[in-house]
Formats: sequence, C-alpha cells, structure tokens
Amino acid sequence: MQQESNLEPRKKILVTGAAGFLGSHLCDRFIKEGFYVIAMDNLITGDLKNIEHLFKLSNFEFHHHDITTFVHVPGKLDYILHFASPASPIDYLKIPIQTLKVGSLGTHNLLGLAKEKNARILIASTSEVYGDPLVHPQTEDYYGNVNTISQRGVYDEAKRFQESITMAYHRFHGVETRIARIFNTYGPRMRLNDGRVIPAFIGQALRGEDLTVFGIGNQTRSFCYVEDQVEGIYRLLLSDYSEPVNIGNPNEITILEFAEEIIKLTGTKQKIVFKPLPQDDPMQRQPDISRAKKILGWEPKVSRQEGMKITYDYFKALSTEELWKSEHKDFSKHIRK
Ligand code: UDP
Repeated sequence: MQQESNLEPRKKILVTGAAGFLGSHLCDRFIKEGFYVIAMDNLITGDLKNIEHLFKLSNFEFHHHDITTFVHVPGKLDYILHFASPASPIDYLKIPIQTLKVGSLGTHNLLGLAKEKNARILIASTSEVYGDPLVHPQTEDYYGNVNTISQRGVYDEAKRFQESITMAYHRFHGVETRIARIFNTYGPRMRLNDGRVIPAFIGQALRGEDLTVFGIGNQTRSFCYVEDQVEGIYRLLLSDYSEPVNIGNPNEITILEFAEEIIKLTGTKQKIVFKPLPQDDPMQRQPDISRAKKILGWEPKVSRQEGMKITYDYFKALSTEELWKSEHKDFSKHIRK
C-alpha cells in the first residue's frame, strides 16, 4: 500500500462523474491533497480529456462504469463524492430517464457502498431543489417551488429524492453523509455546447454569432468560479455537518447585464438577440451562504471578472473544429437499452 510521508495510509476516495466539469476539478484537488482517487464515469456527458492528465499517476485509477448498476470497489474506501449526473437543460431534454436514474438508483447504490465500506459520502445536490424560488436569497430551510412534470422536473425531482434518501441512510443506517447544494458554477472544462449560458455566450462570441438572451433577460443568476466551489465542497466533506449547505457565489446579475459583460470581455461586434424563455426557467437565484460561512468558514474569493477571464481564455484556446462542432454530443452509443 502507498504511504504518505507521515506513514499514514493514503485516504481513498471514489469520485463519480469524474470526467465531468466539477468531477474532474475535484479529482485534481484530491490528488493534490495526497488522496488515492478512484474516478468513475459512464462518459454519457463526461469527457476523458478532462482527466487524461491524471492517468499517469500511481494514485489515480479510472473505472468506466454506469453507477445506476451495482457499484463494486475492492478494498477499503474512506470517502465518496457523488457528482455523476447530467447537469444542463439540454441534457434533461435529451436524456431525461438517465437523469432520473442516476439521481435515484445511482445514489441508492452509492449509499449502499458507503454503508458497506463505512465511508463518508458527499452528494452533489443543487439550487434546482428550490425550483423557481419564492424566497430570495435562498436559505437552506426553504422547501422550494418545483414543477414535478416540467422538463427540468427530471433533474429537480431526482435531486430532491437524492437528498431524501441520503438523509434516510444517515438517520436509519448512521451513514456519514454530506449534502452540498451547488449553485451555478463555471470555469474551464465546461462543455461548449451544453446549452448553459456561459459556454453558450462565449461560444457565440468566438464564432461571431449574436448572443441569445432567453426571455427579456431579467432573470438573475449568481455565478461561482469552480476553484471556490471545489474549496467549499472540500471543506464540507471534511466537516461534521450532515444537513444541506448552499455553496455558491451570492453576487447576482441579470442575464441581460451578463450578456453585456460578455460583449465587453470578448470584444465581439455582435449584438444581443432575444429568444423564448425555456419552460420553468427560474426567475431569480442567489444563494444565502450564511451557513457555509459559519460552519465551513468558507466564502468565494474569485470575482466574476477574474473567473470569466480565465474561462474565456480556456474556450479561446479550443481548436476551430471544437468551436464549430455545433452538434450536441451523441449520447446514444453510451445508453444501455
Ligand atoms: N440563457 C440564455 N441564453 C442562452 C442560454 C441560457 O439567456 O443561450 C439563460 C437561461 O434561460 C437561464 C440562464 O441563462 O435563465 C442560466 O441558464 P443555465 O442553463 O446556464 O443555468 P440554469 O438555468 O440551470 O441556472
């Protein structure tokens, strides 16, 4: 077994959704902290290029596996980070059943694994559990306003079920659980064509297309840079707190103002065009992070200006082919019938 310098065995962590945006950044962080990382992904929405730099390391291994089926990890396991899930409105439309299954069946399998291994598990929940919120900013004790049967409902309800089964495993089986309610997060390795607003606007600017604002752009979001998000998740995992914690950046902006910021950042000569607002698109979203501040001593450090500059540079460096690949990723070859 590999030893750290203090001769303690390395802590072993399983990261699901490891080839995705957040999952891959978490793998990087836990590798940096000296953990042995077992990365798992079925590659429906994830991409191996996000973690290929880790394959050469002796404290990293990758399992191509769909966690909605039985999950086996040999030997001891100390921690689980459950980050497998489609996470963009286009994905919910294209793979609604996979979205429901990974949040429900997948979470059940991982909680079972956590119980078996006596491992602590942190699940990635979301601000979507608040739906189109009637309380602003959103505190953890707000129950939410979710349309169960809308297109987003497959994600929102899967995540609400996920929180529920996680608390049940905590209360009934005594599993050590953590719940991160993640608000809009951005940074390098987002998928260019996943339809989310940041890659959408940057991609449009880079291709010389008009920026598509949905509705009249008066809906708000609060964007958290990935490095801050990862720090919050890291602290939550190592805390002893099992109730949900909001992790996000409270700096709120309307989508129209945000489009104007992107025009400035990219120097594009294109204009803003307005498109219909998607069904049940939340009108406002801003995390109340008092709990994270108090319990984790955490708050975001990276300004939108700094974070967006890094993100823009990442997308600018993509090849022309990647930039023009307008076709959304073909999921069909990965989905089990
Ligand atoms: N949005 C937009 N134009 C786009 C893509 C998204 O105006 O090309 C809007 C979308 O309607 C939403 C906001 O940007 O109000 C954030 O969308 P995203 O999909 O990034 O995240 P979510 O809605 O899940 O917060």
